[in-house]
Amino acid sequence: MSQPKLQEKSREFPAVEISGMNRALAADIRKRSGTQFQRCFQCQTCANGCPFVQAMDYPPNVIMRMLQYGMEQEVLRCSTIWICVGCHTCSSQCPMGIDIAAVMDSLRLKAVEAGAPIAKPNILDFHEEVLRSLERYGRAHKLSIMWRYKMQTGRWFSDLDVGLKMLARRKLELRPSRVKNIGEITELFKCYWRESK
Ligand code: SF4
Ligand code: SF4
Repeated sequence: MSQPKLQEKSREFPAVEISGMNRALAADIRKRSGTQFQRCFQCQTCANGCPFVQAMDYPPNVIMRMLQYGMEQEVLRCSTIWICVGCHTCSSQCPMGIDIAAVMDSLRLKAVEAGAPIAKPNILDFHEEVLRSLERYGRAHKLSIMWRYKMQTGRWFSDLDVGLKMLARRKLELRPSRVKNIGEITELFKCYWRESK
């Protein structure tokens, strides 16, 4: 007998009601990210698979819960949204098909627009390194991102324990690999840099 598709299966679960505290934030993030984060039922798969969870103040599943509760100040000021590198590990593993990485991305944009304090110093440098890795390889190569970020900031020993733990758990690939159609990615980035000037 064939297995039911994830999308069909997810409809069996009730969505958590958004609280009256800040429905606007939830609606805005849902529209920007295009994903139904209110379906999150706290299985923690996203947190267990996230390679950066140990450096975050809240794991990704807690961010989903805070959004459901409309906790705007907490969610826009937390370090998690800046530490997330958008690797999509969580999104690809979520049993409810929630694109958690897209939610994080939307929250970063929202935080900048709202003038919320950025929880981690130099974090925008880090994100620029992620963009460069995506431009170069078509995917985020975590080791080269970390290396270039350290070179930029001179913070060689900060978070060293996190890097060593990731290496020990084989969550860092030593050699970067390029996607096949890197030319298409290059074209996308040309448009992006043009529009962001
Ligand atoms: S994996 Fe999906 S359903 Fe599970 S806690 Fe994370 S966001 Fe929620
Ligand atoms: S996209 Fe962000 S939250 Fe998800 S696994 Fe990657 S770093 Fe963690």
